[in-house]
Amino acid sequence: MHQDNSSNSLFAFEKLESNVRSYSRSFPVVFRKAAGAILEDENGFEFIDFLSGAGVLNYGHNDPDFLNDAMKYLKSNGIIHGLDMATTAKREFMECFDATILEPRGLTHKFQFPGPTGANAVEAALKLARKVTGRHSIISFTNGFHGVSLGALAATGSRYYRDAAGLPASGAVFMPYDGYLGADNDTSEYLDKVLADASSGVDIPAAIILETVQGEGGIKPASKDWLQSTERLCRKNGILLIVDDIQAGCGRTGNFFSFEFADLSPDIIVLSKSLSGCGLPLSLLLLKPELDVWRPGEHNGTFRGNNLAFVTGTAALRKYWTNEKLSEGVAETGNIMSDRLRQVAQSGRDQGLLVRGRGMMLGLDCNTGKLAERIVRKAFEDGLVVERCGAEDQVIKLLPPLTIDGQTLQRGLDILDSSVRASA
Ligand code: PLP
Repeated sequence: MHQDNSSNSLFAFEKLESNVRSYSRSFPVVFRKAAGAILEDENGFEFIDFLSGAGVLNYGHNDPDFLNDAMKYLKSNGIIHGLDMATTAKREFMECFDATILEPRGLTHKFQFPGPTGANAVEAALKLARKVTGRHSIISFTNGFHGVSLGALAATGSRYYRDAAGLPASGAVFMPYDGYLGADNDTSEYLDKVLADASSGVDIPAAIILETVQGEGGIKPASKDWLQSTERLCRKNGILLIVDDIQAGCGRTGNFFSFEFADLSPDIIVLSKSLSGCGLPLSLLLLKPELDVWRPGEHNGTFRGNNLAFVTGTAALRKYWTNEKLSEGVAETGNIMSDRLRQVAQSGRDQGLLVRGRGMMLGLDCNTGKLAERIVRKAFEDGLVVERCGAEDQVIKLLPPLTIDGQTLQRGLDILDSSVRASA
């Protein structure tokens, strides 16, 4: 039993922090330290981390090489804040990203650093698409999640978040995602039809924004065929394709970008979460050069680019993306995880448990939020941090660090397994 029942350790949070806090409710201990896939609380209890900061810590907590580079940079009085000025750290990051990620994939996209959050990057992407095309509407997909600031929220499906907006979350039209109407229904055909029909009521949008594996929406992977048809529709209708790779990118599904398996060529790619390698906030828009119609400073912000994050982001690229090892490891570990999860699902078959996902972005659909909640709560008591997603929070989302060692992974899966058995 790992849960911290010692007196008042959470009192300050309950007294001082807004009601809006959420993860501290799901994991009611005070965390103090972390390394790799292990989190430690103030009482010295260790937890295996299958949450990874909701996809921020693909390389685990506190990678010593990244921290070393960060410490050297800090000690040398490296620029910490530089607005969007030219800095050595930014140049090294862009040149390294270009050489290790873009060039080998034949991509010539330009870099835009918006504010530090994923939603900041989505806002910038939508704004740019509107500016380039002169159209205002955006097509997004059922169960999609793109952030909760107003522009990004318009493209986010969740009623819980939309209801909190206080304003109509307008500007996007939702179309059925792949599989939404059942496995036999190709929803891209419906999209094709409404775009071709001049009186369908659906305007030709500035952009279509999608996740190739929906994360918050319940770990829903789109098929290669559907993604390719959707890209073709974009080309046919002069619509920009935005891939939101904030959660599925940076190696989570195996390749650096989650769309590589489908050979897509997105006009705009948004990245954030694991981009800095160690949890520092950093977001990036990659845009095709011909879309770079911004006037200087037209999309502005004080915290555009984060120099310390550039340093650790460069360290991550150098350590993990100059060869295929990490990608191969993700494929291998992903298979181990999904095999084990299928066994777990089998043991809970009376509840109709289902496994979905790609690479190391996997979900155990428990059918009901109540069952999923019981399972993750029991898992937490036994030392595993794992969160839920999906419209009813019915899916257990497994995002261990991509670098997790085999033994820790097995221990985490064992805890999940026994939690399912105990809760079913
Ligand atoms: N897009 C996707 C696919 C995400 O998963 C998230 C966050 O979970 C966001 C956008 C928003 O990112 P942020 O929470 O940093 O604003």
